[in-house]
Amino acid sequence: MFLDVKELTVRKIRIRKSYAPGTVDYHTGEFRQIEPLEVRATAELVEGQIRIDGSLHTRLELVCARCLETVLEEVSRDFDLYYRPMVSIAREEEVHLKTDDTEIGFFEGDGLFLADVLAEQVILALPMKVICRSDCRGLCPHCGANLNSEECRCETHAADPRMAPLARLKQDWFKKQ
Ligand SMILES: [Zn+2]
Ligand SMILES: [Zn+2]
Repeated sequence: MFLDVKELTVRKIRIRKSYAPGTVDYHTGEFRQIEPLEVRATAELVEGQIRIDGSLHTRLELVCARCLETVLEEVSRDFDLYYRPMVSIAREEEVHLKTDDTEIGFFEGDGLFLADVLAEQVILALPMKVICRSDCRGLCPHCGANLNSEECRCETHAADPRMAPLARLKQDWFKKQ
């Protein structure tokens, strides 16, 4: 869906759309959209800027940052965005921008694609680090065992009595991490 400035000058547009998985390009391999991306919003022209106000919802498949298992993440986000025409940047830079909570972007030419706006919002909605559960024990840094489901194979090797003090030290160190 293309939001055309010329059309927005005439009327406000009500958006109720559902993007099937694979139809929005997120420009990243870090996650996969697995359910439709639902959006409800209104687009209008406010003092020459395109304003898009609404909310989105979808589900993504990601990888746990600790154990690398698949994680399903529900994403919901409200947004109220303003996009200025690109040509106005030079002029706007001289003007002191009002600082408020609204985010400001830019659009080139006749307008912008809603899908690009939504892709950006989905990425912003994600936490910095996704983990499968708060107590995920991750992978053993030595043998790579998934400590949520497997016994670490290193500990039996460290059973050499001469190595015991070192092993204990290591264990304490890991507990503190
Ligand atoms: Zn995990
Ligand atoms: Zn191990």
